[in-house]
Amino acid sequence: MINIVLFGPPGAGKGTQAENLILKYDLVHISTGEVFRKNIKEETELGLLAKSYMDKGGLVPDEVTIKLLKEVVDNKPNAKGFIFDGFPRTTPQAVALDKFLKEKTMSVSAMLALEVEDDVLVERLLNRGKESGRADDADESIIRNRIKEYYEKTAILKNFYSAQNKYFGVEGVGSVEEISERLYKVIDTL
Ligand code: AMP
Repeated sequence: MINIVLFGPPGAGKGTQAENLILKYDLVHISTGEVFRKNIKEETELGLLAKSYMDKGGLVPDEVTIKLLKEVVDNKPNAKGFIFDGFPRTTPQAVALDKFLKEKTMSVSAMLALEVEDDVLVERLLNRGKESGRADDADESIIRNRIKEYYEKTAILKNFYSAQNKYFGVEGVGSVEEISERLYKVIDTL
């Protein structure tokens, strides 16, 4: 079973790369951001709560996010493996994920981190906002806040997974296929 944590700042291309990885390795893609957006669209209680944080470019509280992640994993008992996209984003989330997977005799195989410079990220996200209509991609100050949250709360997870020899950095600039090939190369050594 392969369980990949796809990592990188907002706009690094996690969603795009996840699409190729699920096809190649027959994995289930879990994007907490997508689940939150679906809930916002359906105007659920969770969506309402998540929106209040997402609109400012902040993180949804750990307790809420961890509970959601567990539910989504539990709903896929026959999965051959998972790609976690946008989760974990904080140390408590990473600790909870390890514990939760261990209870299911599973573990994180690797964290694959897409490395992209900030200015490229902002440009990509503003362009994506024009096409997708995502509110948090339309405003540069919200984008900058998301990147700030990433460096303050999320980037530290590099140390968390490095300590377990599970961190792999991959250059996230180039064509979609080039970047996918770099990821495949790492996954095929696992
Ligand atoms: P994403 O689609 O991964 O860029 O996530 C969009 C937004 O959803 C983030 O800016 C956060 O507000 C929220 N979000 C997604 N995943 C998480 C998470 N693991 N922890 C906290 N907030 C999250």
